[in-house]
Amino acid sequence: QQPLLVVRNLRKHFPIRSGILGRVSAHVRAVDNVSFTVRKGETLGIVGESGCGKSTVARLLMRLINPDAGEQIFDGDAVGEHGGISVADLRRQVQMVFQDSASSLNPRMPVQNSIAFGPIAFGTPRVEAVGQARELLTRVGLNPALFGGRYPHELSGGQKQRINIARALAMQPRMIILDEAVSALDKSVEAQVLNLLQALKRSFNLTYVFISHDLGVVRWISDRVMVMYLGEIVEIGPADTIYTGARHPYTRALLASRPALDPDQRREEAPVSGDPPNPINPPSGCRFHTRCPHAEPVCASRAPSLGAEGEQAHRAACHMQDPASGHSQAIAA
Ligand code: SF4
Ligand code: MG
Repeated sequence: QQPLLVVRNLRKHFPIRSGILGRVSAHVRAVDNVSFTVRKGETLGIVGESGCGKSTVARLLMRLINPDAGEQIFDGDAVGEHGGISVADLRRQVQMVFQDSASSLNPRMPVQNSIAFGPIAFGTPRVEAVGQARELLTRVGLNPALFGGRYPHELSGGQKQRINIARALAMQPRMIILDEAVSALDKSVEAQVLNLLQALKRSFNLTYVFISHDLGVVRWISDRVMVMYLGEIVEIGPADTIYTGARHPYTRALLASRPALDPDQRREEAPVSGDPPNPINPPSGCRFHTRCPHAEPVCASRAPSLGAEGEQAHRAACHMQDPASGHSQAIAA
């Protein structure tokens, strides 16, 4: 598969200001040296505890915030560079759906106008844009005659999320970033919206980045999964491989934290315990070493490498599976 999006060494540190002069006293290292590829037509899942940087990655991909460093290439064109793709064009081709479905819709606007709003701003005549909006309502499973003129407060959470999906589709995007997009929904509604997303992906030739703390949902929808911890990627690989053969102790602990479907199922790994350390001053070496049951002295002094993209489909940043570090015992064995 061809890459649609390539990100290299993306970095975002948020300054913390203090004192009456508001001097920068520290930085939150929200995203550190993150490199990955999203292939055309795939769904890349991003998982991790809250604060791991997954939402910051999403906002960086959309350029809602600017990175401190790094390269972003969309369909072969460098973002924001002369001769590349402009940020405005990127924000049309990449759309985003957030968790908070209510606040992203204008409460004083009938939903069909909300869907038509973007295309109108980009020059589509109003009548045409509203006509397309009503077609999109049908595509997301809402009868336009019944729902087109309604206001957000007249809709359920699931219906509002369908409107947000239609609003994203109205821009004819190549890619949609879904940031906890189904997390606020009841389980049955969530399943319906997930099925809808799968169907739309096929019919509109879309590529998804699907961010969630819900590992079960991510497994269901994703082709590949990327696991983040304290601003870094710790593991990336095909979804099935990650879920059945996770290599990184953090991924294993995360998976062990899920409620077991079968209560008799034996746990091989302890669930991840406590809160992640402060991203203002992350632990040295492997950032997971303060919580890792397999940590060795080298883990505190040397940061493990994820390895280069293209080397292997499944990569984890852990010394214990890196023969070059001298710790050749594989914890997976
Ligand atoms: Fe644990 Fe060390 Fe691997 Fe980090 S590098 S995950 S501390 S074993
Ligand atoms: Mg988030």
